[in-house]
Amino acid sequence: MGDLDNGWTVSDAFPEHPLTADELETRLSAARAETTPWDDPGQTRLGFAMAAPAPSAVRVWSDFLAANTNNVGVHTGFGAGAAGTRRLEREALLSLAGLYHADSAEGHVTSGATEAVIQGLRIGRNATRDSPHARVAVITGEFAHHSVAKAAEILGLDYRPVPADQAWTLSAEAVERAADEAVRDGATGIVVVATAGYYNSGLCDPIAEMSLRIRERAARDAGRVRYFFYVDAAHGGFVFPFTAPDLAFDFRNPGVHAMAVDPHKSGLLPYSCGVLLARRGLLQHVTAVSPVTGVVDDTLIGSRPGAAAAALWAVLFGHGRSRFTELAHTWLAKRDALAEAIRSADPRCVLRVAPHAPVVTASFDVPQGRLPQELAQRYRLVPILAPAADGGRRLHYHFYAGQSLTPAQIAGFGEALARAVTEVRAEAAPRRPSADDSDAARDLLPPTACFRHFAAHPPGRRDPDAPGYSFHTFTTRRSTGEELRHRPWGVAPSGRQVTLFAPDLARPFANELFGVHTDVYTAEILDRHQQKLSLVGAVHFCFPLAEPGCQALLNFESTGAFRSVEYKFGGRSEFDEIQCFTDRTVVKFGKNATGVRRPHSDAYSFSVDTSLECVVLWQNGDAAPRLTSHRHYSDVLLPRRRHLNREQYSRFPNRFFDGELELRAGRGHSRPWRLSQFGSGDGVLARSALTGLSAVDVEARDGQLSVSGRSLPAGRSFALSLPVDLGCRLSEALPALDVSRPEELTTDAAVQFAEAVYTVMGPSLPVRDAQDMWHVSAPPARPAG
Ligand SMILES: *Cc1c(COP(=O)(O)O)cnc(C)c1O
Repeated sequence: MGDLDNGWTVSDAFPEHPLTADELETRLSAARAETTPWDDPGQTRLGFAMAAPAPSAVRVWSDFLAANTNNVGVHTGFGAGAAGTRRLEREALLSLAGLYHADSAEGHVTSGATEAVIQGLRIGRNATRDSPHARVAVITGEFAHHSVAKAAEILGLDYRPVPADQAWTLSAEAVERAADEAVRDGATGIVVVATAGYYNSGLCDPIAEMSLRIRERAARDAGRVRYFFYVDAAHGGFVFPFTAPDLAFDFRNPGVHAMAVDPHKSGLLPYSCGVLLARRGLLQHVTAVSPVTGVVDDTLIGSRPGAAAAALWAVLFGHGRSRFTELAHTWLAKRDALAEAIRSADPRCVLRVAPHAPVVTASFDVPQGRLPQELAQRYRLVPILAPAADGGRRLHYHFYAGQSLTPAQIAGFGEALARAVTEVRAEAAPRRPSADDSDAARDLLPPTACFRHFAAHPPGRRDPDAPGYSFHTFTTRRSTGEELRHRPWGVAPSGRQVTLFAPDLARPFANELFGVHTDVYTAEILDRHQQKLSLVGAVHFCFPLAEPGCQALLNFESTGAFRSVEYKFGGRSEFDEIQCFTDRTVVKFGKNATGVRRPHSDAYSFSVDTSLECVVLWQNGDAAPRLTSHRHYSDVLLPRRRHLNREQYSRFPNRFFDGELELRAGRGHSRPWRLSQFGSGDGVLARSALTGLSAVDVEARDGQLSVSGRSLPAGRSFALSLPVDLGCRLSEALPALDVSRPEELTTDAAVQFAEAVYTVMGPSLPVRDAQDMWHVSAPPARPAG
């Protein structure tokens, strides 16, 4: 809900009345059924550190939840945590402080390690700076969890990740070099973040050695530079104490100041439960006193669930060191079984088994080291590009052997992996060389707005009736070896030189697209498959306008019917557009389109972002114009990112608007009207491709529709006018070519059609007058017969 087929999300209506108990239950059960059970043999989230929570944790959590206890504040101080869930939190935290060898520590339960990392770095920042303007750098490993970068961004710290070496962990030397560099750049505070149990490998930084060196520096640089050492033990905190009791990753090192651990990772707690621990006296660096009430709070968030503390207490005291040690060794045994299954699925893979953690990483001997998307999705596998033994970098996948992993799941994964590896190796047949019939003709092609020129569906994925056939299965033509080929056709009666292009000129209409190109236009006919997918008709006719970067685009349905004409003003990727259909005119300000190749994939996604879209629906008669909808999605007065990050794309199309307007107006309405008359008086704002942030307008007068923009603050302006009934007149004047059976077309018929279209369109090309206004005139109607 809220997600439209065209890739655009709008809000849902708030329910006016309660659903019946049955309906509620049906909808909730559906969602529950979509959640894979922990023991599903066909699937397990091997790439994620997660395990079924201990039943005792769930029971205790639920019990205390009903009482709605709030554990706001810190309860580890002297005399605090006297009663209820606060006492349980205090006891749980002090016992963890004991587990991590702190002689004395304070802290609180958090919503997870991310909150603990933010809070830990906040303590570090405040403890190492002596004025709010002091520069504080965060030095950490390249593969540190992204919560560290997030915390640095929130806290305004200078984030300095150190590239990983062959060991994938930090070295004391690399940290020292990075610290020297940060100090040279003016930092007077250095926060070092070590990881005890990397999420992507289970490895542990050499924390004892780092701690020694940092302390030496701190003593040497006293009065000049301060150092803070934070350990992110989100993953290792519930593993290493039980698998490697002598691994000194914790407060055993006097230089370690604070730690994050994550009971909801391997501590058998449900979400959300993390823990922050800091050496005593350090929490006061973040003490906040409410200016209103005088209440004192040393935590990051306000209200916190006491139920989380109670459940944590129940698991810690219900398991103890002995039970946790027993469990942790079963995880290591599962890790070894998993490693064995991976090795037999691909004996050529390079495996790394984390010495003390239930994590295996593998790089596979397949093209680009990449496993098929389907397998990666099913098992939630997310690879990282990490140093390999040959000195380069390769994709490495990591696999978690958690509490809930069963032998059947390990076996099932081994089989799926073996199949996938065989499959991708077989698919990696040698590419066809991409010989081009005419490189010279290729240079003639104008810059194209059509992504089909560089992207195509891979062979084997061209069946529009097969599930999964979509825009996002596009890949580069270069990778399929099907780049467009060109062939001179000859000279048309108009005297124009005509060139044909298609990926396969022997079967021009059977393979994604066929085109006719001259120096003044390009016409394209989509093949049967592409027609099915196309949102913009089956025939595209494109001609550049006199303004650099400006274009006009005609499109036709497969029946040959005129669909629309579109004038685009702007340049490169951003345009102001006017699109005329027979029944409506669509004006788009600041339409910005981009195609992105998704990471770890050959496939493309496309994204369209429009500042303002204004639709005028034309009706017969002389009805006065009325505004039928006006939606405000975003605010043009604030800058915003126009497209998602490359990593965020999953499907096409992705669309976004700042605002959408819709009007209905009679074609025959005789009085002039303008869009801005419907607003609050200050006009309509949009980001125009031509004039930037602008007051824009759409105006009808004497059978002409004008679109204009004036930049804010007032400066540049533009205007464009065209006949209100341009769409109707073009639909009568233009020739028609039925392309619904593209294989039956001939190239000569396509050339003849394209030439005839251009003869009609020529007179309606926009012209620019002295007042910087473009005018489009309508062509004469097609002579009868
Ligand atoms: C999971 C993890 C985090 C973040 O923890 P959340 O509980 O997801 O907030 C931070 N650091 C490491 C090493 C982790 O494994």
